[in-house]
Amino acid sequence: MNKGPAVADFWNSAELTSGCISCGKHYFYIDWDGNIMPCVFIPYYQDNLKDLYANGKSIMDAMFSDLFTKGRAWQKDNFTKKDGKVRNLMMPCLVRDNHKDFVSIVKSCEGVKGEDQAATDALNSDEYHADLEQFDEDLKKIEDPYWEEHYEMKDSEENSSEAEKSAEKGTMEEE
Ligand code: SF4
Repeated sequence: MNKGPAVADFWNSAELTSGCISCGKHYFYIDWDGNIMPCVFIPYYQDNLKDLYANGKSIMDAMFSDLFTKGRAWQKDNFTKKDGKVRNLMMPCLVRDNHKDFVSIVKSCEGVKGEDQAATDALNSDEYHADLEQFDEDLKKIEDPYWEEHYEMKDSEENSSEAEKSAEKGTMEEE
């Protein structure tokens, strides 16, 4: 990989991080009330910082909650090289670009709460999920060909090795 200044524009920077970094892979988010969430854009939590410490636990317990563990497993499953390819890193986001997977993960975890009423309402809205899933399908039709033409063909080996290195180094293994 050519070394030089890296300019990140947030949504389109997953090449630099080899995919989504939420769920404690490289990052997580705690709100003002101590709710520990996978990402600032995933307003759902299982653990609260104050409650954990009041019960003799620590922040590491939150890193191994169902929600975080399943989120990291999803990252590893989706952004590790398979058949010589890394999947489209232009669509890395668990909650936006892969909403169906996100809903499946959240609904498989017991006791997940919304950060606020809007988040709770969204989680309970089939219409909201259907809209985002349609968005993902439409986006995929545009971005997959672009990824294949401009990234995968040119840099497949480079991207693959970087993604693998990052997955090996950064992903917290549950062993
Ligand atoms: S969930 Fe989306 S916004 Fe959050 S770290 Fe992952 S890719 Fe980025």
